[in-house]
Amino acid sequence: MEGCDYRTQCEPVRARFAKLKGREVALSVENLGKVFRAPDGRAVVALKGIDVATHRREFLCVVGPSGCGKSTFVRILAGLETATSGVVRVGGVPVSGPGSDRGMVFQGYTLFPWLTVLRNVAFGLEENGTPRREAEREAGQWLALIGLESFAESYPHQLSGGMKQRVAIARALATRPRILLMDEPFSALDTQSRARMQAYLIEIWKKIDITIVFITHDLDEAIHLADRILVLKAHPGAVAELIEVPVPRPRSHAQALGPEFRATRARLDALIHPPEDEAEAEEAGASTLVTRMTPAGDEVE
Ligand code: ADP
Ligand code: MG
Repeated sequence: MEGCDYRTQCEPVRARFAKLKGREVALSVENLGKVFRAPDGRAVVALKGIDVATHRREFLCVVGPSGCGKSTFVRILAGLETATSGVVRVGGVPVSGPGSDRGMVFQGYTLFPWLTVLRNVAFGLEENGTPRREAEREAGQWLALIGLESFAESYPHQLSGGMKQRVAIARALATRPRILLMDEPFSALDTQSRARMQAYLIEIWKKIDITIVFITHDLDEAIHLADRILVLKAHPGAVAELIEVPVPRPRSHAQALGPEFRATRARLDALIHPPEDEAEAEEAGASTLVTRMTPAGDEVE
């Protein structure tokens, strides 16, 4: 790893970030905060002062220790939860609730068990007023994209966990959102299915015009998938750092042994599991870091 820092970018990676940042901002989050009221009346600050912006077709991963507010963050982006302060914009327009410009995939299996695979995918289209036959035709195309057209008439209980999540992705994409929000979608899967799902997701992302915000607590998964990784710290949930992943694309799991991957992994480990005696120094340096990261990675170091 000699000479390799997590900020060291080879030419193709630099070129990719230059192209990415030339695109319009798809999603922006400004000074986002969330305070929950515990049953005893105590205030729980889940998120504080989060600033981040993603560009069109970017793949952003969000990592952080358990309880740092990752799910709260993505639920606010989805409009399922309201923020206490700050604003979320999609294509410049403030978000005030759920909308068809954002699709969501959850960790648990959330397909309707009483509907066939095809009807699960067609569901959102019909909700949006698409006539049934047209909705089913479009749903069939999404099933073909995820390679499950032969399971159109199956029911969710007949599918493996990975297949269910592929259908959930197709269902979220069928209404043509601009943003796909995913909260630990693969964490219930075994290692092999998870690796396959990561590959499927990247294939889909390459084919369609979608910006992805993907929550995970698996650091290797984040490095494998993301353009940038938003690292949150806990109590309160705040930005620790926004990292540009220096690993070139197309990616393979073999790159986990490479210097860029290992340097990024080491940096994430240091941020998420700071050694006890460095925790205070980290705390003191936090405001400078946040300020530096506020322009959402405009600088390529
Ligand atoms: P993560 O997904 O990173 O594990 P969460 O977003 O689920 O974290 O939770 C962040 C913090 O907010 C935690 O301290 C959690 O206990 C608290 N929290 C989440 N939802 C609620 C709620 N509905 N009411 C009160 N506190 C909540
Ligand atoms: Mg969570």
